[in-house]
Amino acid sequence: MNASDRTLAAAAPPPLRRQFASDNYSGLCPEAWTAMQEANAGHCPSYGDDAWTQRAADLLREVFETDCDVFFVFNGTAANSLALASCCQSYHSILCHELAHVETDECGAPEFFSNGTKVLLLPGAEGKIAPSEIERVVGKRSDLHFPKPRAVSVTNATEVGTVYSPDELKAIWSKTKSLGLRLHMDGARFANAVASLGCAPKEITWQAGVDVLCFGGTKNGMAVGESVVFFNRELAHEFEWRCKQAGQLASKMRFLSAPWVGILKDGAWLRHAAHANAMAARLDAALRELPNTRPLFTREANGVFVELPAAAIGALRARGWLFYTFIGAGGCRFMCSWDTRPEDVDALASDLRAVL
Ligand SMILES: *Cc1c(COP(=O)(O)O)cnc(C)c1O
Repeated sequence: MNASDRTLAAAAPPPLRRQFASDNYSGLCPEAWTAMQEANAGHCPSYGDDAWTQRAADLLREVFETDCDVFFVFNGTAANSLALASCCQSYHSILCHELAHVETDECGAPEFFSNGTKVLLLPGAEGKIAPSEIERVVGKRSDLHFPKPRAVSVTNATEVGTVYSPDELKAIWSKTKSLGLRLHMDGARFANAVASLGCAPKEITWQAGVDVLCFGGTKNGMAVGESVVFFNRELAHEFEWRCKQAGQLASKMRFLSAPWVGILKDGAWLRHAAHANAMAARLDAALRELPNTRPLFTREANGVFVELPAAAIGALRARGWLFYTFIGAGGCRFMCSWDTRPEDVDALASDLRAVL
């Protein structure tokens, strides 16, 4: 390495233009950033025994308008896996949609952290589980040679950008209740679901039978961190030991919890999510004006899923756009973030118009 190479290596890499590949391409929202800075003011007790963590948990109890047990972990895979492990024994099974993150994107972590609980997959339109499917799978077998169904996991907003309404969740709850199953919600994009529905957070959680929610902070403008919110507080028994054993107990916990205070205290979490949803709605509307495109799912949150011709996908990439194409053949996913601007959407739409 010569001297000028060293200068280059020391410089910060230039940022990308704002992209649509994932909502985790974005940086920190100002509220999370400011709270991190405030939490950096001096010394503070460790392992969650601090005022920031207390305040973040209290704010979550305010947001959900109920007493609940709250924990902070580093990421969504850990949140889901540990929450599901707290619902199940190793000989149990968890029912989820076949596109669920816990099945497709967690490298078997839910099975690993529960010591072998099996994940059973259900089909369903729009990325959602139909209550009748729960009954069908549970009814298939009740003998002791089959892993005993113990939990249902729903994702809200779903992996394909749709949203479960309070009534849809209550219909699932009526099945889980009658079948003795726990209800887990993967809320990596919970804020986008609440913003989309315009409901109170309680209406799609404990008032719809959710026992435990994994509430995503990362995709909503934090650097890192998800909260695990137990409405069924019995399930939270010894959860701190699960977190510690899994390597998920942050020693400088205040840097996981302070950003929650930042985004919750004056509603930034919901404003940012509503903004991301509005940007996706803008892109969805622009796409509908264009030929040779086919929407794949109803746009209800911050993602747009569309089928494009292969040549157009290549041409869009050649113009520098980054996006995923993992839903079937030709299915493209465009995710909007808290910091996506209308002009970003318009630039993408204009390039789409040019390549279609
Ligand atoms: C992003 C995401 C998660 C969390 O993923 P991590 O990379 O483990 O933080 C969980 N569920 C869904 C549906 C997601 O999109």
